[in-house]
Amino acid sequence: MSNCAIVGINWGDEGKGRMVDLLTEQFDVVVRYQGGGNAGHTVINEKGKFALHLLPSGIFREGVVNVLGNGVALDCESLWKEMEDIRGKGVPITPENLKVSERASLLLPWHRELDSLEEARLADKKYGSTKQGIAPFYSDKFQKKTVMAGELRYPEKFKAHLADILEWKNLILRRVYGAEGYTMEQMEAWVSAWGEKLCPYLCDTGKFFREAVAQNRRILFEAQLGSLRDLDYGIYPYTTSSNPVAAYAPVGAGLPSMKIDKVIGVVKAYSTCVGEGPFTCEWFGEDAERLRKEGNEYGAKTGRPRRVGPIDLVATRYGIQVQGATAIALTKLDVLSYLERIPVCTRYRLNGVETDDFPFPALLPDAEPVTEYLDGWHCDISGVRKWQELPSAARAYVEYLEERLECPIPYVSVGPERDAIILR
Ligand code: GDP
Repeated sequence: MSNCAIVGINWGDEGKGRMVDLLTEQFDVVVRYQGGGNAGHTVINEKGKFALHLLPSGIFREGVVNVLGNGVALDCESLWKEMEDIRGKGVPITPENLKVSERASLLLPWHRELDSLEEARLADKKYGSTKQGIAPFYSDKFQKKTVMAGELRYPEKFKAHLADILEWKNLILRRVYGAEGYTMEQMEAWVSAWGEKLCPYLCDTGKFFREAVAQNRRILFEAQLGSLRDLDYGIYPYTTSSNPVAAYAPVGAGLPSMKIDKVIGVVKAYSTCVGEGPFTCEWFGEDAERLRKEGNEYGAKTGRPRRVGPIDLVATRYGIQVQGATAIALTKLDVLSYLERIPVCTRYRLNGVETDDFPFPALLPDAEPVTEYLDGWHCDISGVRKWQELPSAARAYVEYLEERLECPIPYVSVGPERDAIILR
């Protein structure tokens, strides 16, 4: 396989980490190109169970180089904690297998604080942030009010740059939110602590990728979240503050001119959503409780119960178009085994008219799902590894999705473990 992006088609939590972990075997480099420590990619392999937040999911494979590109929100504290946790389980992490772009901007201590302050101010109108500082970070990046990781190499210049930012940031923290603010002494301590730790991993990732491409090394782009959370193409303002779309991958990785050959869109066999915003297919009450329990739908980062419902073909088709997915990995098919019949949201009804088109975000709260049912298979499929051994009703469900979504489904996942996959 040549270059490939593994991306989420829906609201995130589709099982991207699990697919990246499976496919890294075929790649030399895995790169995270956007987002930050708010991700929660769950990977289960022979080394144990891991929830990865910032580290690329290729970190477990020997010989794979993992890159944090310039598009990520570089949260040193979260990254370091994660590196120590994973090292503690016997996984080596060195400057040889982890490279951090010197052009990645730093998530600073006030970003997390501002995230919480703003969510508290919004009260019942909150966005449902994971409070990891992501929105304040990206706003500051666009305002040119943060610093690049590479500046840590030049402490005196770094401190002068930071002092200018701090003066402005303290005005906001103190006068808008009534918070305490930060002193330059606090920040100097922060700079020396993180500079020492991070500098060995810093890298000119543009140069790294130019050489990697010249040597035909195979590159895997790992996205966070999904199409419907993309800042430009998602359900604004209930989006994240970066671009999970595959088109952004070369930009956020470090080589904007790089071409992506293949885009694998990860789709869950039903819908889940964390946080606020319209979720047309949402189930409530007992049905929701049962599906949440069967699918263990609780956030990897926050432990929050996820909102759940049947698969939404309208949102999924849109997500596939936005990502330009060339193939689908369907995950968690095993979770649906308990259902008598399998519900599918095929269309939306908007102002009395049925539609296949995903509505403009402001109209989404008025959309209602049109639901059809397919036969259930009523047996445990988590041990199945061959397509022909799946019950015919499960195969019919996959084939139905393939036809309605107009995209091939070569991967069907029936469990969280690395080998619980059916390759068609
Ligand atoms: P990501 O952020 O897209 O990587 O997804 P998460 O890791 O947040 O959520 C996916 C969850 O589903 C994780 O707990 C995975 O271990 C689990 N998972 C992934 N694929 C399957 C599957 O096919 N079946 C089951 N039962 N669990 C799965």
